[in-house]
Amino acid sequence: MAKTPFVTKEKVEEIAASYPTPFHLYDERGIRENVSNLKKAFSWNKGYKEYFAVKATPNPFLINILREYGCGCDCSSKTELMMSKTIGATGDDIMFSSNDTPIEEFKYCNDLGGIINLDDITHIEAVEKACGKLPKKMSCRYNPGGIFKISNDIMDNPGDAKYGMTTEQIYEAFRILKEKGVEEFGIHSFLCSNTVTNEYYPMLAKLLFELAADLKAKLGVHITFINLSGGIGIPYLPDQEPNDIFVIGEGVRKAYEEVLTPAGMDDVAIYTELGRYMLGPYGGLVTKAINEKHTHKEYIGVDACAVNLMRPAIYGAYHHITVLGKENEPSDNKYDVTGSLCENCDKFAIDRMLPKIEMGDYLFIHDAGAHGFSMGYNYNGKLKSAEILLKEDGSFRLIRRAETPKDYFSTFDCFDFYNDLISE
Ligand SMILES: *Cc1c(COP(=O)(O)O)cnc(C)c1O
Repeated sequence: MAKTPFVTKEKVEEIAASYPTPFHLYDERGIRENVSNLKKAFSWNKGYKEYFAVKATPNPFLINILREYGCGCDCSSKTELMMSKTIGATGDDIMFSSNDTPIEEFKYCNDLGGIINLDDITHIEAVEKACGKLPKKMSCRYNPGGIFKISNDIMDNPGDAKYGMTTEQIYEAFRILKEKGVEEFGIHSFLCSNTVTNEYYPMLAKLLFELAADLKAKLGVHITFINLSGGIGIPYLPDQEPNDIFVIGEGVRKAYEEVLTPAGMDDVAIYTELGRYMLGPYGGLVTKAINEKHTHKEYIGVDACAVNLMRPAIYGAYHHITVLGKENEPSDNKYDVTGSLCENCDKFAIDRMLPKIEMGDYLFIHDAGAHGFSMGYNYNGKLKSAEILLKEDGSFRLIRRAETPKDYFSTFDCFDFYNDLISE
């Protein structure tokens, strides 16, 4: 089975005439369709809101598309809060789900009116100190520990994860917060990443709904939202069955009606903080074959490297590759597709069967729209690529320019490094 890129070879050639490869390309049509379906799938819940996980793809142009559908921003750092502020997402449009948080970032978030989601019980004091007093609305992050299983498959290992409060701590935290005047409460939990199953969210929801009902019964707290966070995955492999967001939405509704409605809690809003699911499939890394090497293996060297997309290098993650214009040719050549870093893990594919690749061919690396560009770094003096939006009408727009050597040298304030270089 193959994956179909959202762009043709001809279109890539047209874009590359203005903006040289490598670049990240995003599909506006796909983004809009997907967010619109997500909203429909949860429309049964009056307060439903998606807070896009900014870290996945911190580009204001892309986030602004999601904003048109009522999405807020889930931030994890001051810089991400600043980006949200810049695009007009403040107040209840911000969820600050940070961890190991520097105390001044709580203040920055609070000044913007954002919702602070506490990763740890000790942060109650930190927020009080930073903000003078506690905000009226607060959220706590929960980690039940142990392992998280779906029908006997181990999905993930929350007991090993640094995030969130234990069961005992979250009861204690809610008690303290209530005593200190907090009026509205939220619960957040993120137990499994990249789940390609429709069962994760409904199971997580049931667990959090039961906790919420018990917290209300025992402590009399007013819980106004439950945040299912991220974790809905995408099929990176071509033969994987994608999630059905409507089945997921219905599964969460069923748990809601089983647990929250009988507990008299049918005013609770459902929040999500999806990143990967929102943009992952709607971004691709476009790169050109620039070198071939025939040694102990067959290598194709491309003009992108792990700096542009780290997932294969750090997790051995699979990203499907299409050789543009050769979609219908047989995949009868076995290649390692490599970048140029001085690191042997800098391979986009290992022993991958692909059509015969000629120098100058464009490769489309799929599913790079989330946790792609944003994880990039500057190792080996490599510069970050441009980001380009392919619009619904087929036109394209540069939404972040590529870095230049000047950007790379700009943090050496103590030298006039770059100007010396260019005046030579
Ligand atoms: C990373 C992250 C997300 C988004 O995760 P995805 O796997 O991209 O959906 C959401 N919330 C928090 C707190 C995160 O750290």
